[in-house]
Amino acid sequence: TLKGKTAIITGSNSGIGLGVARGLAKAGADVVLNSYTDRDEDHRLAEELGHEFGVAARYIGADLSKGEEARALVEQAGTCDILVNNAGIQHVAPIEEFPVEKWDAIIAIMLSSAFHTTAVALPMMRKAGWGRVINIASAHGLTASPYKAAYVSAKHGVVGMTKVVALETAKENITANAICPGYVHTPLVEAQIPDTAKKYNMSEEEAIEKVILDRQPSKQFATVEQIGGTAIFLCSEAAEQITGTTISVDGGWTAL
Ligand code: NAD
Repeated sequence: TLKGKTAIITGSNSGIGLGVARGLAKAGADVVLNSYTDRDEDHRLAEELGHEFGVAARYIGADLSKGEEARALVEQAGTCDILVNNAGIQHVAPIEEFPVEKWDAIIAIMLSSAFHTTAVALPMMRKAGWGRVINIASAHGLTASPYKAAYVSAKHGVVGMTKVVALETAKENITANAICPGYVHTPLVEAQIPDTAKKYNMSEEEAIEKVILDRQPSKQFATVEQIGGTAIFLCSEAAEQITGTTISVDGGWTAL
C-alpha cells in the first residue's frame, strides 16, 4: 500500500495522467493533480477522486511550459514521494515546416518540465528516505516516426534524463524509470478514430487495425489502467532494484 505517500502527477486532468493518479490513489497514495488550467471542474475532479478512494487529493494549476511554474508546482505540494512526469502535447510536421514555437513548447512541456520538477522533488525524497520518479515517455522514446521531430526528441531526452536521475540516486532508496506506452486508449485517441476512418475510407475497426495500430502488433490499445498498474508496480518492493530503465507497454511495438 502507498498509504502516507504523496504522488504528484503532471498533466493529470485527463488521459494517462488521470489514469495513473486514479491507480496510485486506489493503492492508497495522496495525490496532487495538475494541468495548465485552473477551473472549478479541475478542483472538483480532485475532490471527487479523494472521496472515491479515501485519500487526500488536491489540484494545483501550473503551466509546465514555464520552468518556474514547474518548480512552483512541487514546492506548493510541499512533499513528494512519487513524481510522475506525464504532461505532454504533440505536433506533426516535416522538420523544414515545423513551427519553432511548437518545437520550443514540446521540449519545454515534455523534457524541461521533468528536469525542473525532479530538481525540486529529489531533496524531498531524500529527506523522506524513499522516492520514485516515473517518467511517462513513449514508444517514441525508443523509436522514431517521420514528422514528429520535437516529440521523438523530447521523449528520447526523457529516457536519457531518467538514466541520469537513476545514477545520481543509485545508492539511495530512490528509483527513476520511464514507462514507454504504445498507443493508449484515451479521449484524444478516441477522437481520432472517426476522422481516420473517413480519411482512409475504411470502417472504424479497419482504421484502428490498419492505420492507428499499424505499428502495434497486438492490434489492441493499451489502457490508462494498465499504465496506472505499471506505475504501482514501480512503487512496489518488487521493483526496488529496477532503476534507470524503460518499461514498454506497447503490445510489441518495439519488438518489431
Ligand atoms: P492528454 O492530452 O489526455 O493529456 C495530456 C495532459 O497534459 C493533459 O492533462 C493536459 O492538460 C496536460 N498538459 C498539456 N500541456 C500542459 C502544460 N503546458 N502544462 C501543464 N499540463 C499540460 O494526452 P495523453 O494521451 O494522456 O498523454 C499523456 C502523456 O502520455 C504524454 O506525455 C504523452 O506523450 C504520453 N503518451 C501518450 C500515448 C497515447 O497513445 N495516448 C502514447 C505514448 C505516450
